Amino acid sequence: MPECLFCDIAAERVPAARVLATDRVMAFRDIDPQAPSHVLVIPKEHHPDLAALTTADAGLLHEVIAAAHQAAVAEGISDGYRVVFNTGLQAGQTVPHVHAHVLGGRWMAWPPG
Ligand code: 5GP
Ligand code: ZN
Repeated sequence: MPECLFCDIAAERVPAARVLATDRVMAFRDIDPQAPSHVLVIPKEHHPDLAALTTADAGLLHEVIAAAHQAAVAEGISDGYRVVFNTGLQAGQTVPHVHAHVLGGRWMAWPPG
C-alpha cells in the first residue's frame, strides 16, 4: 500500500495528540484546529473514504461514529458539536484515509462553506 499519513498515526509511526483509542479506532487532535475542540476519528484499518468504509465494514463505521460522540464527551462539548466526513476532492477531503472531524467549543454557522 502507498504511504498513508493516518495509517502511520494509527500505527504510532507518526506522533499525534491522542484523545481516545480502542482496538479498531483512534481519535486525535487535528494539527490545524478549526474550532476550540477539533478531533479526528479514524479506523485503524485503511479505507480511503466514507463510501469505501460503508461498503467494506458498516460495523466499523458505527465504531467510528460512536467514538466521535465519546470524543465529544471527553472534550466537554457534548452539548453541541458537529461531525463532518469530507468525502472526495470537491468536498475538501485532503487525506485519503476516512476520518470524522469532531468540532465544537464555539457557535457554528450553517450552511458550512
Ligand atoms: P480533510 O481535509 O481530509 O477533511 O481533513 C484532513 C485533516 O487532517 C485536516 O483538518 C488537517 O489539518 C489534518 N492533518 C493533516 N496532517 C496532519 C497531521 O500530521 N497530524 C494531525 N493531527 N492532523 C493532520
Ligand atoms: Zn491509511
